[in-house]
Amino acid sequence: MANQNNFSNMAQPTPAKSLQIHQAFSRQKIIRLMQILRITQAALLLVSIITIGQGYYRDAIILMATGIFLFSVDWAIYKERPVTGAAIFLLSLTLMLSYLIWIGGGIRDSSVLGYCGVLIFAAMVGNKRILLVVLSVMVAVLMAVSFANEYGLVQNTVEPINLATGAIAIVILLVVGLAVWMLANDYRATLDELARENERVKSAKNHIEHMAMHDPLTGLPNRIMAQHSFDQIYREAKAHKQLLGIIFIDLDNLKPINDSLGHQAGDQILKEVALRLLSYTKQVDWVCRYGGDEFIVFMPNITAADQVSEASVDILQLVSENYVYRNIEIFCTCSIGIALAPQDGEDLDTLIKKADIAMYHSKDSGRNSFRFFNPAINRNMLDHISLISGMRKALQEKQFSLHYQPKIDLQTNDICGFEALLRWHHPDQGFISPATFIPLAESSGLIIQLGEWVITEACEQGKRWYDEGILQFAVAINISSIQFKRGNIDSIVLGALSASGLPPQFLELELTESLLIEDSDRLATTLSTLRAEGVHLSIDDFGTGYSNLGYLKKFEVEALKIDQSFVRKMDDQTGDAAIVRAIIQMSASLGLKTIAEGVEDAGTAALLRNLGCTQAQGYYWARPMPANEVPGFIESWRKNQD
Ligand code: C2E
Ligand code: CA
Ligand code: CA
Repeated sequence: MANQNNFSNMAQPTPAKSLQIHQAFSRQKIIRLMQILRITQAALLLVSIITIGQGYYRDAIILMATGIFLFSVDWAIYKERPVTGAAIFLLSLTLMLSYLIWIGGGIRDSSVLGYCGVLIFAAMVGNKRILLVVLSVMVAVLMAVSFANEYGLVQNTVEPINLATGAIAIVILLVVGLAVWMLANDYRATLDELARENERVKSAKNHIEHMAMHDPLTGLPNRIMAQHSFDQIYREAKAHKQLLGIIFIDLDNLKPINDSLGHQAGDQILKEVALRLLSYTKQVDWVCRYGGDEFIVFMPNITAADQVSEASVDILQLVSENYVYRNIEIFCTCSIGIALAPQDGEDLDTLIKKADIAMYHSKDSGRNSFRFFNPAINRNMLDHISLISGMRKALQEKQFSLHYQPKIDLQTNDICGFEALLRWHHPDQGFISPATFIPLAESSGLIIQLGEWVITEACEQGKRWYDEGILQFAVAINISSIQFKRGNIDSIVLGALSASGLPPQFLELELTESLLIEDSDRLATTLSTLRAEGVHLSIDDFGTGYSNLGYLKKFEVEALKIDQSFVRKMDDQTGDAAIVRAIIQMSASLGLKTIAEGVEDAGTAALLRNLGCTQAQGYYWARPMPANEVPGFIESWRKNQD
């Protein structure tokens, strides 16, 4: 739309511009009028002198009087009435010439030559109406002279030709010639200007067309151009009975790069990716930027899917090579989805949709990989995609809430914490389990925003309970490892704490084991920053990952949450009781607390207490409840204690 507007601005003069042109045009006309006026007055003076020399005083007086009268044109111009000026000029010349014709040589008088001049002047400085009036007067005069001679009313005789009459004719001819020369000049200048204007409009149009079809950041064709090119490329592929590969490339981590290093860094990566793709696809293939961090390559001239696989491997390799931005090394990978025409579809929309589904599939299976579209995964992926877009909407429309599940101290039977658990109430699909949507939020990167919302919400809720005086323990929130990888979780958490006013010791973060395995220095710094502020850290689902004890001390973790899969099978003979016992003993020796999850009955609770487990959580005591039920729950719990 914007482009079209631009275009119409360029193609048609704006009101201001047209006024300018109009004004410039009239100014030019006024200049011409004044030039011709002076030339004519000079010519009149010259001719009257010649006429005096010949002894025709009456003619000389008429010529001079006209010359003087023509100064009234100056007055009209001074009064800013150029049309009136032009009319006075042309009409007085016409009348003067007509009179000279009438009293002189009739239609053979050299003044008739002057008529031609007046007509040319009229074309230059007058308007259509003046031209018509002048022409009518001339025709009328010539007809009147002819009639008068025919019927003997007057007898015009042509003066004998001598030097003086020749001079007069030459003067008139020179003035007319000068006017024609000026007219031709003006005409040529106008034509040149028109041609230049035309050129400008044409180049503006090309520029705008280019802009409409290309991405301004990378200079690559955009999705509109993709459609145009697809039609042509696919037609050719079909004619040669070849396949067309649609390689859909989605960058895996542009958002975290934008968030942590700024949009300029993101832009730089996009430009570099574009360059790399362009250099790779140089001759045979066609590449475009399809959206924010999405690129599409059309691969024509292929006969087997293998060729697209090979290209995809190359592209993965190419994109994942280091980027350098302001001396910082940045890593960025991509996920690729592939669709093939004609087997997956013959129109671009269908093909891109399928390549997109395949791309999500490769994101799901760990990113930095490629997948072909496979109808079997279609249904599943479509559900996933609609859930992901549903989540985006849910965030805006506040469909999420937090429920809180108490943690119980097994030795004192007191409430020793609450775990905040995310709930999504979908307007059509009802309650959707976090077990379903959290993994999708993670694979789509949406967990960043969602997690931020959880942190803010839990801190604000915690602060309200703190103000009410019921918060004597920490509120625990679940943090996904993706949130850590993004690199600024410490500032987000500390920001939420200070914004809400909740003291940090009332907040606990539940981390996953897999996160700590990575053992990066950055993670160690992040966690120790949070610990130094007083935020508590625990390990969720302990026992399901690669239980490496080394990191527990290093990262200043305080508690282990024993995964519910072990807790729930403690009373059968699978050996899970032994695992739980081992975890409890080990954490005791490391000085860590243990929290058993998923306790559903009194027997399990008693068993855990005997094993020395410090805390537990489960339906046996309470299910996760909405925030407004928490104060009542605490109150009745304490009442029962007394
Ligand atoms: P989790 O962190 O292990 O949370 C405990 C899950 O066990 C919760 O399921 C809770 O409702 C359930 N549960 C508690 N007691 C019992 C019990 O006695 N029996 C049984 N069968 N289940 C019990 P929920 O709320 O469906 O959450 C599932 C998972 O979703 C969580 O597992 C956590 O990994 C994730 N999740 C939930 N909220 C968040 C969040 O805000 N952020 C992140 N990153 N993940 C979250
Ligand atoms: Ca948890
Ligand atoms: Ca857990």
